[in-house]
Order: sequence, then structure tokens, then C-alpha cells
Amino acid sequence: MKVFISVDMEGISGIVDGTQTGRDKAEYKTGRALMVADVNAAIDGILEADPGAEIVVSDAHGGMKNIEPEALNKAAVLVRGTPKPLTQMAGIDGSFDAVLFVGYHAKKGTEHGILSHTISGRAIESVTINGTEVGETAINAGIAGHFGVPLVFLAGDKATAREAKELDPGIEVAAVKEAIGRTSAKCLHPKVARALIRENVAKALKGGVKVKPFAFKQPVEVVVRFTNARMGDAVEFMPSAERLDGKTVRFVQDDFIGAFNALRASIFIAGAVST
Ligand SMILES: [Zn+2]
Repeated sequence: MKVFISVDMEGISGIVDGTQTGRDKAEYKTGRALMVADVNAAIDGILEADPGAEIVVSDAHGGMKNIEPEALNKAAVLVRGTPKPLTQMAGIDGSFDAVLFVGYHAKKGTEHGILSHTISGRAIESVTINGTEVGETAINAGIAGHFGVPLVFLAGDKATAREAKELDPGIEVAAVKEAIGRTSAKCLHPKVARALIRENVAKALKGGVKVKPFAFKQPVEVVVRFTNARMGDAVEFMPSAERLDGKTVRFVQDDFIGAFNALRASIFIAGAVST
């Protein structure tokens, strides 16, 4: 079995605010230790289901160098660094049997979602694909789905686990914390959270993968609402962009990878202008 794990940081066990997720912040060292421990728990679950599994871990937060290579279970190959194609999903292709998300967070504006945002907290107000507002869970599941690979497990806070279940109720989840506010939560003890991750990953994979790949209908329409009109002014320069209003731009692409690339490029451009 070949398994791909995309690992973000906001939904890791015990993490509740930016002091644990920012490279130059006071509790970052603790945050990254918690992060690799959750990933290793997921790897233990994979190896329980298939001791010979091939595993690729993609570090999917910020500069994408949060997982310390030495601390990761040696059964996995680590993809790190940025920028790169497919960003949080770099390394995925059609040869994988299943995808797992660990440390994932809810889409921007979610009530009771720890550190909720959609790709860029600074630039993005919302992302709507084919008429439905989505977060990183649906976007990255859509990338996996483009390659015919199903998302079978997600670990994160309760709101993000709900986002995964909305994609497909068959996706196994581990809700490691329940948000009280955007930067406060009731957290399972990390050891309890890791046991839950391991158990539910094994459950998702044992006896073969049952969930179907999640794919967006083609052609794919992406509507991006930025946080201010100056970003809209800059993104409008993209050849395929259609300006809908001050803050909103629309793209239509033949397939989801084209749509994702347009979205990602528009965020780079929006990030280059000040407010
Ligand atoms: Zn992140």
C-alpha cells in the first residue's frame, strides 16, 4: 500500500494559537514537537494496517520546514520546503492508494474553528468552487481526487473533522480538540489524541480503502474574494481573471489542477501588494 500524508499545523493536538505555529514565536519549538508526534502516530496506524506500506509525508504549513527530519519515523519519505507545485499536496500522484490529512484546520470564518483560515489569512476572505465555499480540506482532497486518490482520514479540531465528513461521511476522523473560540480549545491530552489518530488511521486502511476519490466537476469555476480591493486590482492582471467586484475575481479552468494553479497564483499576486 502507498499512502500520502499532508500535514498542516493549526489542527495539531494541543495547538491553539499562533505562538505555537510561527517560526519566530515563543512556543514554536513545542508546536513542532507536537506536530511530528501526531504524524508519527498516523504512520504507526498505517504500519499497523500494512507493515510494508510506502509512505510520503508532505510538510504543509508556512515555509513547509516544520517537521524536523530526524524526529520523523524513518518509514516515511519527507517532502519539505516551498514554493513548489501543488504546495500542501506536493509529492502526490496517481500511484498512491490513500491520502491522510493531519493537523488540518477549518475554512476562514468558521465558528469554533481553531486558527481557521483558507490558504492565506491575510489575503483571502473566501474561496468558492463550483458554487460551494470551500476550505483547504476540500481543495486538497480535490487535488488528490484529480489523481484518483481518495482522502480516507483527517485529524484536526472538531469543526475540521465536520468539513471532512461533509465531503464524504466514510472518511475516518480524529477530532483532537474542540474549539471554544478561534484561539481557544478543549484539547485531548496529546497521548490520548495520538492513540485516537493511530487507531482511526488503521481503521481507515485495514481491509483496503473503501472511500471514493473526491473530485470537482469540470470545467472548474473558482471565485476568490480577497480581503481588500487593492488585491483585486493586482489579481485582475492575470490573463484568465474576470473581475466580479472590488474584492472578487473569477477563474474558469478545464480541470482542477488548472483551477488550483490559478487560485495559488492569485494569492501570490495579492500577497505582493500592501493593504
Ligand atoms: Zn498552516
